[in-house]
Amino acid sequence: MTNLKLTALAGRARTIVVVGNARIGEGFTVIAGPCSVESEAQIMSVANAVKAAGAQLLRGGAFKPRTSPYAFQGLGLQGLQFLEKARNETGLAIVTEVVDPRDVSWVSEYVDVLQIGARNMQSFSLLKEVGKSPRPVLLKRGMYATIDEWLNCAEYILNEGNPNVILCERGIRTHETYTRNTLDLSAVAALRELTHLPVITDPSHATGRPSLIEPMSLASVACGADGMIVEVHCHPEEALSDKEQQLTPEHFARIMRRVRAMERTMHALNHDTD
Ligand code: PEP
Ligand code: MN
Repeated sequence: MTNLKLTALAGRARTIVVVGNARIGEGFTVIAGPCSVESEAQIMSVANAVKAAGAQLLRGGAFKPRTSPYAFQGLGLQGLQFLEKARNETGLAIVTEVVDPRDVSWVSEYVDVLQIGARNMQSFSLLKEVGKSPRPVLLKRGMYATIDEWLNCAEYILNEGNPNVILCERGIRTHETYTRNTLDLSAVAALRELTHLPVITDPSHATGRPSLIEPMSLASVACGADGMIVEVHCHPEEALSDKEQQLTPEHFARIMRRVRAMERTMHALNHDTD
């Protein structure tokens, strides 16, 4: 491991990132919402549904980093305005991705948490810019990044004065093609030994398959993750991005019930004196 001055656990207290009513790093925090904000009606209906199922924060992309330049790129400012409305109506704090350093300061005025996507994990000018923002940062693991490279990216953000970084394991590229990526749960357990920062998983982008999201969510609780971020859409088949992997609100609600039961099981296990 390289010299990690600010992210190392090294006897420090674990960081708890406080966002609205949520405390990320305490219990298991669930962030849910569509891949992209598509319209006011779409984000409002999904926001109300995930809130009813017990999600603590709302996700939704307004700037989408797409593989193809011809794919839907997001609604930009209008998407942020719809997210703001969803926050006003539900009270859920908002997580959204930022892709351009020039957008960081004005996007920070609209949202509660800035997401750095896997494709931008090592965009150092973007990391420095979010490091100057007053908003917490959700830093996704690059698809080819080692744990050490990922922690160094968090170090860039902390080094600019922003102490509130949440790490997100979203799957890495392996030879496997059945799943979209390979969810590296050993990285979650390793990070709990290495860093004081909270660590969450993204079972949606890791698997790309709704049927695998529940088992990976339960496994995330079991391996000590501090939470997860999942994609939910009221009509997944009509989604403008990631339509294959988004959960229906009903499926998400079932997963939430099982995740909360798994949390209770783990709590009992961790307090068992044997
Ligand atoms: C997303 O969260 O919608 C996304 C694009 O994720 P990732 O950067 O992990 O691919
Ligand atoms: Mn997505």
